[in-house]
Amino acid sequence: LMGDDGVPRPTIFAEMSALATATGSLNLGQGFPDVDGPAWIRAAAMRAIDDGANQYPPGPGIPELRHAVARHQHRHYGIDLDPDRQVLVTTGATEALAAAVLALAGPGDEVLTLEPYYDSYAATIALAGATHTTAPLVATPDGFRLDVAALRAAVTPRTRVILLNTPHNPTGTVLTRDELEAVAALAREADAVVVTDEVYEHLTYDDARHVPIATLPGMAERTLTISSSGKTFSLTGWKIGWVSGPAPLVDAVRTVKQFLTYVSGAPFQPAIARALDDDDAPRELAASLAARRDLLCAGLRDVGFDVVVPAGTYFVLADAAPLGWTDGAALARAMPERAGVVCVPVSAFCRTDDAVATALRSWVRFTFVKSEDVLRDAVERLHALRG
Ligand code: PMP
Ligand code: GLN
Repeated sequence: LMGDDGVPRPTIFAEMSALATATGSLNLGQGFPDVDGPAWIRAAAMRAIDDGANQYPPGPGIPELRHAVARHQHRHYGIDLDPDRQVLVTTGATEALAAAVLALAGPGDEVLTLEPYYDSYAATIALAGATHTTAPLVATPDGFRLDVAALRAAVTPRTRVILLNTPHNPTGTVLTRDELEAVAALAREADAVVVTDEVYEHLTYDDARHVPIATLPGMAERTLTISSSGKTFSLTGWKIGWVSGPAPLVDAVRTVKQFLTYVSGAPFQPAIARALDDDDAPRELAASLAARRDLLCAGLRDVGFDVVVPAGTYFVLADAAPLGWTDGAALARAMPERAGVVCVPVSAFCRTDDAVATALRSWVRFTFVKSEDVLRDAVERLHALRG
């Protein structure tokens, strides 16, 4: 977590956003929308402040939000939860992930993630003192797919947690039921807990459908499902997330959570409780994102990138090798000055110099959760890379 000089390193997202600000570049790096979530949800939070939701809320989250999470899981996936014992509100998915890993894994335990992986996973596993193992997602004509043989080889008797993420950041992969069945079988065999990060659950395109692994046979009893309001409602700064699953596992996460943050944002909870009962905003967001995905993918191809069209999330991975750039990190550093655009190198989602990092060395990630005008402008600017 420290740089060579002993100073804590900023995350890649903070670093690239700072670079965007410093150079006046269009920021297609860090994933956050350039418009705020629905006015009625924001008004609900303001009302909650005026109505006195300003002191510590209950540790597990306010009952209205826990009930709304349970209704959401039932309505979308047929998952039945006891809102009082099986749902915990957290400070974003980030805290849920950290508290889950800290609760379940320690020195001598292995936590298995996909690779590439969201950056907080590696840091959190390190904080827990556990060992990080990975199974690759591999570029195929059908998008980035789970290498099931490699996954099987990566599971050992020490595998305590399989930390899954679907829809997947940064590849945009939506894991299929078959891929999830393979993970589930291995988790049962190894008696591992599955922690699944589903923050992009509503951002899927075309025929892709999000399947929570908790809905597969025998999995509800060994799965902690994590999501958050940031992506679904374009309110990434509110940091209201939740984790649900079997009561003993949720209890373990709560035990850690109470000493990380104690409780989470009082006035935002009633607002998100109301938002979660409404499926229109996420549906409209996904529809508009599908069009923006197509715009950016076509534009990047026109510039000369190879692009894997994502089935979910608001990220697209692009290979810069056809443009003559073999090092995505070097390209990401040069891009603001050369083209006035910021992206994120895929190396930030990989271990240093392992097989996945090598395979994806020339790849970078762009977000398309920006206005169509910004995306068009970015594509135009990126033509400068062709030099
Ligand atoms: N998981 C993934 C895969 C993400 O992309 C993000 C980024 N928002 C998070 C977790 C963090 O979510 P939150 O902001 O709710 O903590
Ligand atoms: N999840 C966002 C991304 O992948 C960033 C969140 C963060 O900055 N930690 O870009």
